[in-house]
Amino acid sequence: MWRVADAHCDTISKRLMGQRQSTLDLKEWFDGGVVLQVFACFIEPQFKPELSLKRCLQQIDAFERLVVGAGATPVLGREDVLRILRGEERRLGALLAVEGGEAISGDLAVLRALYRLGVRLITLTWNQRNDIAEGVGDDRAGGGLSSFGAEVVHEMNRLGMAIDVSHLSEAGFWDVLEISKAPIIASHSSCRALRDHKRNLDDDQLKALGKAGGYVGINFYPAFLSKEEEEVGVRAVVDHLEHAAEVAGFAAVGLGSDFDGIERTPIGLEAPSRMQCIGEELARRGWSEENIRMVMGENLLAYLSRVLN
Ligand SMILES: [Zn+2]
Repeated sequence: MWRVADAHCDTISKRLMGQRQSTLDLKEWFDGGVVLQVFACFIEPQFKPELSLKRCLQQIDAFERLVVGAGATPVLGREDVLRILRGEERRLGALLAVEGGEAISGDLAVLRALYRLGVRLITLTWNQRNDIAEGVGDDRAGGGLSSFGAEVVHEMNRLGMAIDVSHLSEAGFWDVLEISKAPIIASHSSCRALRDHKRNLDDDQLKALGKAGGYVGINFYPAFLSKEEEEVGVRAVVDHLEHAAEVAGFAAVGLGSDFDGIERTPIGLEAPSRMQCIGEELARRGWSEENIRMVMGENLLAYLSRVLN
């Protein structure tokens, strides 16, 4: 069984909204090979901007109750990641993330407080523009990072937090890549060369991300993978993994399922416990055992070990 590390899910938000896609059965996930899951606190649009921080705190509370309370081990630093890499951790590792920099409320003191609450990754924007940068759905002005956004990047570098550019405008992507001292992550984005969608990264972006020691987690959302959404299965996910690996390098690529953040899943990939079928398809295509291990989980763990303090 391959060890799986997944850079993005919205399971916490789905639960608080009274809906569910995945089971949030941590034992089932762990038995399916998942050793690390990034859990995003997704700030739903209806809470923005005034209630963003409150919504974020409600989700952090839910993470504590539903994930840590159910037996997951919080991943807070490099040593926690290395323990998982060495195979010494017997429970699911859970990394707390925030999807939507609105939660920082324009104040680095709030960013530092979120860090103290355990947040180790922040997706700077969702699709809308905020006080950090423009998102992909709101990039008419063609702007990148704001001055405050640059301060956020510097402070996240200092604290040892992963800076996530999924959902960020193209100009914002290049700004972050230029000023960040640490490698950056696109936690749940796929390849623009295979599916021309704003949420996907083009080859120049993939190449630059890989060169800088970053990570891209391929998103499972059928609409990001193919024009023929209804027919998307495991093979489409693997097509994007292969393309990203060719362009960004084998060490820069992995999974960013977006479970519970997507309206439909690929056929055969309905839950975190189903991820092994990706490794099986990679093996059918002749990938080496080492490269499969890297893409299934080790790359994300290695990336986090480079970024966290
Ligand atoms: Zn997202």
